[in-house]
Amino acid sequence: MSLVTCLGFPRIGLKRELKRALESHWRDDGTHSTLLDTARDLRNRHWHLLHDAGADVVPCNDFSLYDQVLDTAVLFDAIPARYRPVFADSPLDGYFAMARGHKRGGHDLHALEMTKWFDTNYHYLVPELEAGQRFRLRGDKPLAEWREATALGLHARPVLLGPVSFLLLSKMVDGSNRLGLLDALLPAYVELLGQLAAAGVDWVQLDEPCLVLDLDGDALAAYRHAYATLNSARHPKILLATYFGALGDNLALVHALPVDGLHVDLVRAPEQLDAVLDGLPADRVLSAGVVDGRNIWRSRPAQVEPLLRKACQRLGAERLWLAPSCSLLHVPIDLDAETALEPSHRAAMAFARQKIEELRVYADALAGQAEALATLATQQSRLDQRASAPGVLNPDVRRRVRELTPQSGLRRSNSAQRRLAQAQVLALPLLPTTTIGSFPQTETLRKTRAAWRAGRIDDDAYDAVLAKEIEHVVRFQEDIGLDVLVHGEPERNDMVEYFGEQLDGYLFTRLGWVQSYGSRCVKPPIIYGDVARPAAMTVRWSRHAQSLTDKPMKGMLTGPVTMLQWSFVRDDLPRETVCRQIALALRDEVHDLEAAGIGVIQIDEPALREGLPLRRADWSGYLDWAVACFRITVGGVRDTTQIHTHMCYSEFNDIIEAVAAMDADVISIETSRSRMELLDAFTRFRYPNGIGPGVYDIHSPRVPSGGEMLELLRKALEVLRPEQLWVNPDCGLKTRAWPEVEAALRAMVQCARQLREAALPA
Ligand code: GLN
Ligand code: ZN
Repeated sequence: MSLVTCLGFPRIGLKRELKRALESHWRDDGTHSTLLDTARDLRNRHWHLLHDAGADVVPCNDFSLYDQVLDTAVLFDAIPARYRPVFADSPLDGYFAMARGHKRGGHDLHALEMTKWFDTNYHYLVPELEAGQRFRLRGDKPLAEWREATALGLHARPVLLGPVSFLLLSKMVDGSNRLGLLDALLPAYVELLGQLAAAGVDWVQLDEPCLVLDLDGDALAAYRHAYATLNSARHPKILLATYFGALGDNLALVHALPVDGLHVDLVRAPEQLDAVLDGLPADRVLSAGVVDGRNIWRSRPAQVEPLLRKACQRLGAERLWLAPSCSLLHVPIDLDAETALEPSHRAAMAFARQKIEELRVYADALAGQAEALATLATQQSRLDQRASAPGVLNPDVRRRVRELTPQSGLRRSNSAQRRLAQAQVLALPLLPTTTIGSFPQTETLRKTRAAWRAGRIDDDAYDAVLAKEIEHVVRFQEDIGLDVLVHGEPERNDMVEYFGEQLDGYLFTRLGWVQSYGSRCVKPPIIYGDVARPAAMTVRWSRHAQSLTDKPMKGMLTGPVTMLQWSFVRDDLPRETVCRQIALALRDEVHDLEAAGIGVIQIDEPALREGLPLRRADWSGYLDWAVACFRITVGGVRDTTQIHTHMCYSEFNDIIEAVAAMDADVISIETSRSRMELLDAFTRFRYPNGIGPGVYDIHSPRVPSGGEMLELLRKALEVLRPEQLWVNPDCGLKTRAWPEVEAALRAMVQCARQLREAALPA
């Protein structure tokens, strides 16, 4: 019979127990034991949960106190010199110093860099390596966790990040070649695998997600060499795990590697099954990733069963394992906790636990069990009926999407003509100053919102607090002399949730937490149905804010791609169709704002870049529809209405053409940390419209001096024309405190004035 297995499980805990334990540990500088006890409890609980849900084999060493890539670096002693003294005092302090920086006992260490894990919203810590780096096995985490699970009577499989992906995901501080370190690294892996085998571990899972990326010849050679080396010494059987996409042109290599099993993602890439089966060596197990580890929907038996039957026919049940497509780290733990969700919605969803239950049913059905077959038939017919259920299908929305034409994404005139029209009505100075939208979310604001949500204060009382805050923010901006004002977003808890809650087609969970990094979790909204806007969402507060001032007030919306990217998206429509629906809803909002007298409107798209597909060949398809959706949002607005967009990252070089194609009148971007590095993109490509490279790093409490900001602006002026340069911070100010914001913005406005005078003809 086919085994049900799992590549990894969420570790944060249903009620974010790990988050709480971590944060109190950091705060109290406290005893390690509570944190480690919580961690052990969570592992035990999750293993039992997996087992009870029907898993034959549970993963171990997938647990992490902070991040599995950091764990790997520490396991192989890839600890940069600056952290070693802290490690020497306490390994746990050293570990957290790498994760979060360390300011204590005479140390002032910055953390490792953090970056997105492939195309997920999970962030991993980027190991820092250098030429001549030495590795050695340090500690026994994988073995200890295997022993822990085994002691509970469970069959456990240690999970390790594979050596080649580990190197490819690391960063060389000296710019040397990462793969050059392979020979130094492999002995540590060999030693570890030997230990595991000696302890009685039968299978180990080596994650090599980089195998779904575009790889060059050096990387392919590294794979061949690495796996030949691992295979040459004593080791448990190796399951090579790939996920997040198709193996594509790397498939031949993968089949040639001396491993004992292969996991493939058949949710993202079901079409690869035939090729995978055709080349699979006869002694090899296939772990079929058939339920979605990246989304919260139940699987469709009509899609999954044929895949499994085909695989089973070719391989036999013994050589076929069933698993989620990737680690379940990316979905919430248990749908049963969502008692407030309507049963009809719940019936269509599966969180981590339900996904394992689904796999159990598939395995039983493959073995011919009648009850399992019936369950699958019911599941499929429920999902079929749901497709046309009210709320899921909104005929008006479908019609509007069908009727979109290339004209829908056009402004009335080209950007040069719009610039003239806007100059007349807005009458802005050279180097106009503005901010990105939010002002500090004070404790009072947060408490008031919590009280309002809990019904302890009524709408009027809540609104009064917001109105007062907006007035304060407006007066402040007038006082310091900013040119384009914002209302400060005091009414928003989160830039996606705020809009999702006002749109049809969205659902929210109570405990649907997903780890973003360390102790940070997000609760992504769920797009389950056609998206429509029943009523205006932001007009009221924007209009109120505009009524307080003669300066232009910038309306503030979250863009369609970001709304999509930071949600769990329905799986019965193409993502681009869902994105078009959101774009149409936002377009109505843009037109309503315009009609209400808001002449500057910003549409934030911080997630545009992270939506890029993993393979280069797929980039242009994505960018085409992402840009089209942005343009639908603002299509048809008056020439005099100035459209801004904002993105908070600085890697622009490879997408600058797409950014220009969005045709926003003004774009603001993050640049201060990289000291305007991104402006390289603008030397190569002449960006036509307004641009505000951030001069104030809002991610840090540090207040930049006027001199620093001036220097950044001067640098910007080396590649940008003065007429196109805007002056603004890197991002919204909601996480900052008022005193910092006040000092930094005053200095920023001063800088703009100083430069303006210098630039004006005498
Ligand atoms: N307007 C938002 C803010 O200022 C933008 C946030 C973001 O880019 N992530 O908070
Ligand atoms: Zn931002």
